[in-house]
Amino acid sequence: MSEARIIDGKAFAEGLRARVGEAVAGLVRAHGLTPGLAVVLVGEDPASQVYVRNKAKQTREAGMHSVEHRLSADTSEADLLALVRALNADPAIHGILVQLPLPAQIRAETVIQTIDPAKDVDGFHVVNAGLLATGQEALVPCTPLGCLMLARDTLGDLSGLEAVVVGRSNIVGKPMAQLLLKESCTVTVAHSRTRDLPAVCRRADLLIAAVGRPNMVKADWIKPGATVIDVGINRVDAGEGKTRLTGDVDFEDAKAVAGAITPVPGGVGPMTIACLLRNTVVAACRQRRLTPPE
Ligand code: NDP
Repeated sequence: MSEARIIDGKAFAEGLRARVGEAVAGLVRAHGLTPGLAVVLVGEDPASQVYVRNKAKQTREAGMHSVEHRLSADTSEADLLALVRALNADPAIHGILVQLPLPAQIRAETVIQTIDPAKDVDGFHVVNAGLLATGQEALVPCTPLGCLMLARDTLGDLSGLEAVVVGRSNIVGKPMAQLLLKESCTVTVAHSRTRDLPAVCRRADLLIAAVGRPNMVKADWIKPGATVIDVGINRVDAGEGKTRLTGDVDFEDAKAVAGAITPVPGGVGPMTIACLLRNTVVAACRQRRLTPPE
């Protein structure tokens, strides 16, 4: 069997960002509407700082209004909630993202549920989770949305496929499963208590790994020819005091069995911010009662 097609998430994300940029230019021209995204970072977590910087840069590159709020690590929950409420009321802001994780004194769930669901571009609010689960128009979490776009681009119509999602978090696994159900896949959600995980994974025409365990999914867990989407981002020791990123799938062996597979880095990762930009445009359009671009 020939080697798997490597799914180029970086190139797809570049294309998506370009389409978002065109949509923004059109909204500015036709409606005087500049979509605005506010990103809130509490504390100095180095990985979060990199994400927030990239989000702000790409937001500006797409022609959108970008606002960053950087708060100290000892910020109180009340102060953060006051900022979220101010952003909810700000007509220049159409999307609000509070970077997770938050310091221990702040309840993340309380913050997320305070964001106006119409501006919840992360799609984590219970209203958006409920809308997605009932098949209605929702703001969909960015990472699973990016996975879905890559799967559709690779496979076309997903209807009737056996899909297995490994992981059941609220931010990746569960919304991924809902999106695949909406596409008429037969969906299995596996997790840490699943019995005989390799056999469950081998059923999948479309296998999504969102676990956070480096190289856990082995080549013999994969049905020959299956499409494999690897969400995992794990930093591992690369020797000589260096580290490197790896996914949840044992990529080097898996690519000899899979039909198509995403690499890490360069697969799902770049899609997440591109989908955040897309969600901000969608949110801005809905707030102005305009039809969002495709
Ligand atoms: P969580 O830790 O919230 O969830 C992990 C899930 O994996 C849980 O449902 C857990 O099961 C399951 N799990 C853990 N161990 C096993 C095991 N041995 N066998 C089967 N299932 C297992 O992680 P997230 O969903 O937030 O993230 C998953 C991965 O995706 C991480 O590597 C993260 O870094 C990455 N990620 C990447 C993003 C991107 O932009 N590309 C964005 C978000 C996340 P249980 O529920 O039973 O505990």
